Amino acid sequence: MNTSISSSASASAALPRIVVLATGGTIAGSSSDATSTAGYQAGVIGVGELLDAVPSLSSVAQIQSEQIASIDSKDMTLELWSTLAQRVNVLLATDAVDGIVITHGTDTLEETAYLLHLTVKSTKPVVLTAAMRPSTALSADGPLNLLNAVTVAASQAAHGQGVLVAFNNRIHSARDVVKTSTYAIDAFQSPEVGALGWVQDGRVDFHRSAMRPHTVASEFSVGANWPLVDIVSSYAGASRVPVDALVDAGVRGIVVAGTGNGSIHATVQQALVDAVAHGVAVVRASRVGSGHVMRNGAASDDALGFVAAGSLNPYKARVLLMLTLAMGTSGPTALQRAFDTY
Ligand code: ASP
Repeated sequence: MNTSISSSASASAALPRIVVLATGGTIAGSSSDATSTAGYQAGVIGVGELLDAVPSLSSVAQIQSEQIASIDSKDMTLELWSTLAQRVNVLLATDAVDGIVITHGTDTLEETAYLLHLTVKSTKPVVLTAAMRPSTALSADGPLNLLNAVTVAASQAAHGQGVLVAFNNRIHSARDVVKTSTYAIDAFQSPEVGALGWVQDGRVDFHRSAMRPHTVASEFSVGANWPLVDIVSSYAGASRVPVDALVDAGVRGIVVAGTGNGSIHATVQQALVDAVAHGVAVVRASRVGSGHVMRNGAASDDALGFVAAGSLNPYKARVLLMLTLAMGTSGPTALQRAFDTY
């Protein structure tokens, strides 16, 4: 990790002090062909170059930057999550920093955002942003997304809103936002509940707040130890092989991306019941992409020893299950409380 701080100190001292933490992604992607929006290398442009592409940042904030990683976010690791969360908390604990922007790949952005939403211990703004087109593309979306993310992080209105995602002029809560398109510029949505607000031409407008506890009201923190938690899926003709393999590997928790309202193929469900008997936590989520999974709805959670994920998709449910198990919490009643709370 390169954590050297470079400062563009030309901005007025009165402007908010924002640290941009770069992790890679398509926003830092490069291709030799400006017409290429799918074939490119993610995470190769450094944070200095990203900032230089947006000179107007200096009229919004005093910017410092750190290159935390240079990865395609499909390769995000638990170790990097720990590094990032710890760095954000250290920076926000100082009086010298008013907010943080994190540039990230779109592929796992919703997971990182939710992790930070639950583990950052500050009311100062933390805003993730990304891009669907590499920096070299015609109509690259990264520079405006970066400007908007810094604008949100610099705004007083963003304090206390939890971790935010600024993308394509919208401001989403990390709790709700998901990537919903493989290619569209408007790739991020908050299904069912919608965005928190919008940012455009320097104006930031919030229309609602995230209702569930986050950041300073969250009981979670990131440590070095991550319990092994994995995801399986249910579909026509599904077998019990993946569940049995995970149990054999010593997994502590399994999230199932069920059909519909978290329903599970009978064969997989029996394997999961057997997993519960081995002390594995089982959470029912849905592969559908919107809506929520009702406790004791499509499966009898009380009888089976399962937990219902509510409105968290399988990937966010895995984040919450990892954090909850890491605290030593176990058993379906205590785990369900966490899912009903966060
Ligand atoms: N694969 C890229 C990443 O997640 C995609 C993107 O950033 O849009 O890093």
